[in-house]
Amino acid sequence: MARILITSAIPYINGIKHLGNLVGSQLPADLFARYQRGRGNEVMYLCATDEHGTPAELAAAKAGKPVAEYCTEMHEVQADIAARFGLSFDHFGRSSSPRNHELTQHFAVKLYENGLIEERSETQMYSPTDGRFLPDRYIEGTCPNCGFESARGDQCDNCTKQLDPVDLINPRSTVSGATDLEMRETKHLYLLQSKMKDQLEEWIDTREGWPLLTTSIAKKWLTDGDGLQDRGITRDLNWGIPVQFDGAPWSGMDGKVFYVWFDAPIEYIACALEWVEAGKGTDWERWWRTDKGASDVTYVQFMGKDNVPFHTLSFPATILGSEEPWKLVDYIKSFNYLNYDGGQFSTSRGCGVFMDQALEILPADYWRWWLLSHAPESSDSEFTWENFQTSVNKDLADVLGNFVSRITKFCRSKFGEAVPEGGAYGAQEQAVIDELATRIRAYEAHMEAMEVRKSAQELRAIWVAGNEYLQSAAPWATFKEDPEQAAAQVRLGLNLIRLYAVLSAPFIPFASAQMLTAMSVEDAAWPGDVAEALSALPAGHVFTVPDNLFRKITDDERADWQERFAGVRA
Ligand SMILES: [Zn+2]
Repeated sequence: MARILITSAIPYINGIKHLGNLVGSQLPADLFARYQRGRGNEVMYLCATDEHGTPAELAAAKAGKPVAEYCTEMHEVQADIAARFGLSFDHFGRSSSPRNHELTQHFAVKLYENGLIEERSETQMYSPTDGRFLPDRYIEGTCPNCGFESARGDQCDNCTKQLDPVDLINPRSTVSGATDLEMRETKHLYLLQSKMKDQLEEWIDTREGWPLLTTSIAKKWLTDGDGLQDRGITRDLNWGIPVQFDGAPWSGMDGKVFYVWFDAPIEYIACALEWVEAGKGTDWERWWRTDKGASDVTYVQFMGKDNVPFHTLSFPATILGSEEPWKLVDYIKSFNYLNYDGGQFSTSRGCGVFMDQALEILPADYWRWWLLSHAPESSDSEFTWENFQTSVNKDLADVLGNFVSRITKFCRSKFGEAVPEGGAYGAQEQAVIDELATRIRAYEAHMEAMEVRKSAQELRAIWVAGNEYLQSAAPWATFKEDPEQAAAQVRLGLNLIRLYAVLSAPFIPFASAQMLTAMSVEDAAWPGDVAEALSALPAGHVFTVPDNLFRKITDDERADWQERFAGVRA
């Protein structure tokens, strides 16, 4: 039995994620986790909310809540929606957890001891009224480029020019509105990534079979311009992991927290500690410490392409730099972007379909199927309502749903709600068994390789094979001439439902569970020998006809949704 550690990029806390976020990390990670569990492997799938940083503070202020309370609430909201989408995390943690605080501070100390963290002095905007240094986003003023009066300290939203807070005309604090801002000297911690360039490059070169998208992004960051840059890893904020703590090897860092990009990936590890704390397991080190059993673990990360630099360089720099035996990633599966109906999904502009809205109009499996079968792997892909309607109606309703419905209803009308006995499988049955055997092995190979679209295509072909068999065997016609032969055909058909439920579970877990319940299946083991798997339900085995698995999307609904989601979310 293999042991597989899976993490998906941790979603930011400030609001509900859209479908583009979902298909870029959590959903394919869930597909892989479910598949590996289905194959009988030991899986640890971890995810969490990313809760620190300025945007969390700003979102909390907008909601009129203390930031800790806001994060607790939003974590619950995200956990609930994830569960309703069938995301099968072993634990869904929080980057603001005490475990992540301890571990982040631990890594910082180790990096400092190994000469990889340095204190640097710089001047920064200070607000005497607020009694604090102000991060870029807490300063507004007039853009020197276009005259826009609400330009932020880091960028003008009107003309998109990148700015420094000192560039702003009439700068003011967005916390208090104070205008008596002054430049003061302050200290920050820098992670000396430039010292680790060779080690990181060497490590990346030892990673086998990484997708081109992943390695090319990493190499670009390593070598472009002046190469990998040292990184400030502290910020002047209240909300976050304190830089000054008992046992810190530096002083004078009060009122500063670690930069969110330093602590967020460490939460992947801290999440396993939270998993123990939640009583879900006992030994987290056998997943994360190579000196304590994790050397035989395969670690796979899922993320959108924008997160690749942090996972190929920043987080490995933290781990390698600690000189401690932490598990490093073995494979990074990264995704391009999913666009929305001629535009882009956007959280800040509220454009596209968000996870909660999706579930209001259709069950999770409809979305899971479309998103995974159109995953933006080799290039960006686009969600359109026409394509969604076609895919759901054809693949799910016409092919799989119709197959299940026809065979169970026909059996009930002629033989009752039990697998019929009599007859034997002939050449036609053998042909479909042979085809399925080939296709199932191909499906497994694609799933192992995390080729999401190819896996979906193969699964669909597996459903189609059953449908075509049923169409050509036509037990409803056979029954009139040879009821025994019709019984054998129906027996195969009912066994196919069980097989489809097992194979389809990673993609459409809810429909799969419905099929297994209807067929009263106790043994949902992954098929080894296909002929054997297709005799798992013996004659006399009782079942019930399930409700329609999938309904069709009408043209009216499609037009209605298209219009409803065309605007910007309120
Ligand atoms: Zn401007």
